[in-house]
Amino acid sequence: MINFDYVRANTVADAVTMIKADPKAKFIAGGTNLVDLMKYEVERPGRLIDITHLPLKAVEETPDGGLLIGALVPNTDLAYHPMIEARYPLVGSAILAGASQQLRNMASVGGNLLQRTRCSYFYDVVTPCNKREPGSGCSAIGGLNRGHAILGTSEACIATHPSDMCVALAALDASVHVTGPNGTRRIAFKDFHRLPGDRPQQDTNLAPDEIITAVELPAKGFASNYSYLKIRDRLSYAFALVSVAAALELQGGTIIDARFAVGGVAHKPWRVPAAEAALRGQTPGAAVFRRAADIALEGARPQEHNAFKVELARRAIVRTLTQASNGTPQSQSDKKIA
Ligand code: SF4
Repeated sequence: MINFDYVRANTVADAVTMIKADPKAKFIAGGTNLVDLMKYEVERPGRLIDITHLPLKAVEETPDGGLLIGALVPNTDLAYHPMIEARYPLVGSAILAGASQQLRNMASVGGNLLQRTRCSYFYDVVTPCNKREPGSGCSAIGGLNRGHAILGTSEACIATHPSDMCVALAALDASVHVTGPNGTRRIAFKDFHRLPGDRPQQDTNLAPDEIITAVELPAKGFASNYSYLKIRDRLSYAFALVSVAAALELQGGTIIDARFAVGGVAHKPWRVPAAEAALRGQTPGAAVFRRAADIALEGARPQEHNAFKVELARRAIVRTLTQASNGTPQSQSDKKIA
């Protein structure tokens, strides 16, 4: 049993003041990950700061044609928002590939970004885990590591980031708006999540006294040629072994812009600019896509049980880019794999 205080913040400034006064407190919104972490005693906050009443639930167009998404917009509302469906369907497709309907109803955009790894050792408090208890060791290295990372790992941690939505946001060059005691700042999505290095306990570059207020999407949404493909052990309510978010812009049969990010393979959505550059100016086709996949997966270092992920990721990248270039329809309830 964990005893904790409960307080409610009514403004962003309140929330920042409260977290600055007690950096060990935790913000709670949907609670879809935090409550589990508290049940397992992975997290033992002395205070929960309820942020569900903050005015961060709007989805608004920005002056430069992008979209500003409040941090408290529920995942379901975002996936089915008319502007997401019309202009950023890659985001909706990724969201609807994750979790379950009930969880998506509760989960917030900000919480999705901050959800923690599903490495089973992280949740098992009797096993060593550098992310949970720095310096204690990593049980997954040399343990059961079928679902773990193959890219960007360290000697300290081989965990993966579990989000689907974040893979799409990474591909679309989103940015994260945050507020702290010193004001507001904007973090490019590629810099928001960290690789584990020797500080695996720190998942993101958000400071302990900052709060996410919004996610911004740039104007370009790649609404015609996109695909999100998630490979997992069962069809729903499972985390990705590998996922790919792909977005292409085609003109006269030539790729003039290309983005793709890979999930389930690293501590953050994996994006390699050189792999995308290899697609630009090319005619879509399997050979071109395979070359981009090879570049994206350069340096992959599988563990004992997850060598299969390298080839799985290669094939998933090729397939997702193929679907994107074909403009394969993406009905979420009946997704056709072309
Ligand atoms: Fe902990 Fe990371 Fe090792 Fe999992 S992979 S046991 S989260 S240190």
